[in-house]
Amino acid sequence: MIQLKTLEAWFITGSQHLYGEETLQQVAAHAQTIAASLDAASNIPVRIVWKPVVKTPEEIYRVCQEANTTPGCIGIIAWMHTFSPAKMWIGGLKVLQRPLLHLHTQFNRDIPWGDIDMDFMNLNQSAHGDREFGFMQSRMRMNRRVVVGHWQEQDLQQELETWLRAAAGWHDWQGARFARIGDNMRQVAVTEGDKVEAELKFGYSVNGYGIGDVVAKVNAVSDEAIGRLVQEYEQAYQVAAPLRKGGDRHDSLRTAARIELGLRAFLEEGNFKGFTDTFEDLHGLDQLPGIAVQRLMADGYGFGGEGDWKTAALVRAMKVMGSGLPGGSSFMEDYTYHFDPENRLVLGAHMLEICASIADGKASCEVHPLGIGGKADPVRLVFNVTDGPAINASVIDMGNRFRLLVNNVQAVKPQHELPKLPVARVLWKPLPDMRTACAAWIQAGGAHHTCYSQHLTAAHMQDFADMAGIECVHIDEDTKLQQFRNELRWNEAYYLLNNR
Ligand code: MN
Repeated sequence: MIQLKTLEAWFITGSQHLYGEETLQQVAAHAQTIAASLDAASNIPVRIVWKPVVKTPEEIYRVCQEANTTPGCIGIIAWMHTFSPAKMWIGGLKVLQRPLLHLHTQFNRDIPWGDIDMDFMNLNQSAHGDREFGFMQSRMRMNRRVVVGHWQEQDLQQELETWLRAAAGWHDWQGARFARIGDNMRQVAVTEGDKVEAELKFGYSVNGYGIGDVVAKVNAVSDEAIGRLVQEYEQAYQVAAPLRKGGDRHDSLRTAARIELGLRAFLEEGNFKGFTDTFEDLHGLDQLPGIAVQRLMADGYGFGGEGDWKTAALVRAMKVMGSGLPGGSSFMEDYTYHFDPENRLVLGAHMLEICASIADGKASCEVHPLGIGGKADPVRLVFNVTDGPAINASVIDMGNRFRLLVNNVQAVKPQHELPKLPVARVLWKPLPDMRTACAAWIQAGGAHHTCYSQHLTAAHMQDFADMAGIECVHIDEDTKLQQFRNELRWNEAYYLLNNR
């Protein structure tokens, strides 16, 4: 469903006619070499496409407009091998709607001490040419990423990869459609928000659909299709004995398969990239969708429980950003705490809907009562989650702006069996420590719903927030609570002044 190699970033080199044709040919050849090398690098997730060197305001304007209207172009990487007077860039940068990464590199890694002459100096000018270019973007208050280093360095390519992944997630949001099935859980605040502002700011639309639209699809599913999907379940998961063919709960598994097929058909026909549901509006559905949601998420759909469309969209973007990396991303909820002073932990889970992309090993497929919603027992995948570093991310609506919160956490191995809690679950220690992290998260208004990711970092999320032009606050090993609270206060003033 998600194929990053179909996307491209454009490698654009700026110069001017002052240098003469011979130098410009060398500039072009060097830029082609760098673009081709990045394109071939194994960790660069999208194609890197070289574009002819731009030397005039007209050429710059034209390439920026082309980038805007080329469907697969997720952003531009700009480099000033030579000096490109930046007033030439005003027109192009003003209309550019794609994210911009300023690559501050130099073709030669080393100064050729014995041979350096004026020809070399006239060619290798990024040390000052890139400063001229950077000034203009600062003068225009443009959000952009500046990456510094020699283009063959592994560290530089990793930074580039991070930004390209963020740009792919951002690109995916433009024009994306999210279905809010059955509106919000009644009276809940943090899952609400301004859908008009979100569409203006983020580029995706969220619209409501009656659960009846999904039920019609569910009822139209054929017995043969259900039979095939049940077989798939039996191969992919450890299906509990009562759910298997001949078991006394086999009908529950068939119902769950029917719901998955119906929901999938609804999402495919509507060309949606994600959805929400709510246990308060399930008229006509026998079970709250459990395994259906888990499997749709594993296929790349965003999801948020209880009408949480902001988290659904974030889960989708993060799945795109992490595509192809080991590990996964999932809808998550801070569920309950272990406050042992020697070993403080958060238990993360949801009633049902955790994506098996973060599972440690093969999930088991089980059916149990839910306790809320008043429906039949839902079938769900139960698993533990791989230990290791991860992040929790949450987008909230502050009324005057959106805020992205990110907390670094360390997931730990399960410490006990949970025989009476048959849900997918994970234990983590938030950084810098649980008391500081939870206080900071709550001071910032962060939601109980998040996207939990094993393969993305705060750096991905910071780039992503910069592309969206929204606030990003980060709780990590260096967070001091008082400083963090001040940052929130200063940001309040900044975003009031800088209300783009
Ligand atoms: Mn929830």
